[in-house]
Amino acid sequence: KQEQYRKLKTQPAVTKDGVEIQLQINAGLLVDMANLEETNASGVGLFRTELQFMVAQHMPTTAEQQALYDAVLKVANGRPVTFRTLDIGGDKVLPYMERLEEENPALGWRAIRIGLDRPRLLRGQVRALLRAGAGSDMKIMLPMVATVNEFLRARTLVRRELDMLERDGRPAPASLKLGVMVEVPSLLFELPEIAREADFLSIGTNDLMQFLFAADRENKRVSDRFDPLGAAGLRALRAIIEEAGKAGCPVTVCGEMGGKPIETLALIALGYRSFSMSSASIGPVKAMLRALDVGKARQRLDAWMSSSDGAASLRPLLAALAAEM
Ligand code: PEP
Ligand code: MG
Repeated sequence: KQEQYRKLKTQPAVTKDGVEIQLQINAGLLVDMANLEETNASGVGLFRTELQFMVAQHMPTTAEQQALYDAVLKVANGRPVTFRTLDIGGDKVLPYMERLEEENPALGWRAIRIGLDRPRLLRGQVRALLRAGAGSDMKIMLPMVATVNEFLRARTLVRRELDMLERDGRPAPASLKLGVMVEVPSLLFELPEIAREADFLSIGTNDLMQFLFAADRENKRVSDRFDPLGAAGLRALRAIIEEAGKAGCPVTVCGEMGGKPIETLALIALGYRSFSMSSASIGPVKAMLRALDVGKARQRLDAWMSSSDGAASLRPLLAALAAEM
């Protein structure tokens, strides 16, 4: 298998019927960046910036943050990198930061919620990102956004930092795209608006499914209880790709679902064309998609989804389809 995946490295990520699929990797530390070359992925679709904060002994300064982002972009060598702003809180605690006792940390004060309540922290990070991105095409995305209003507030903050950079006569990014993670189900009920306002969407299926099914992703008792490949999960994912398509808003899947061959098959059949995954998943996913007939998979999935019979999951049918290809 490993040998087969190595051979695939130089093969394009194109399905049997000629549909191009974008495969990127997830990263969080500078060392992960070596996987870009290793996998021949087209970029980093999710750079988890909180990793630097979690391994540090003190709050990284703006200069320290910028130094990391500079180095990341240098190693990426022109391949796109999508930086996600801090996703701390929840289970990701920083020893040097104020801490709340929370009954439900996953539902608590975390990610963009902290960023909007402590704007100095978010502004400092945005400043570091914009400075590191001088002259290049920057992509920044915001985690755990629950409403369009939160996105708009964060965007105002980002634009203010960009204005300040230009006013100070510092070199700005050649372009800036500001996207949003779709990982809180409330956003599913503001899809037309968020797809219109955001420059791109990135689906965090780990959290999206955790919150959709109210099943803790870290709790083995319940985490496997509901299959995202059942009617509810698939319809949620279909709604996102459809609304994004209507608004002409690009979408990537950056949660673990996108790194599992059967799940990725279903996502491609739904219309997804861009994925970001752990680097170890690139080989298996590419092997699957190069054998895939998207037209046929789409037809089958549409039929199964419209005749939902209360089955827990379409996984057995999808696995049979994959074996047929
Ligand atoms: C997700 O929630 O799917 C995601 C990609 O983000 P994280 O796993 O870092 O929460
Ligand atoms: Mg998440």
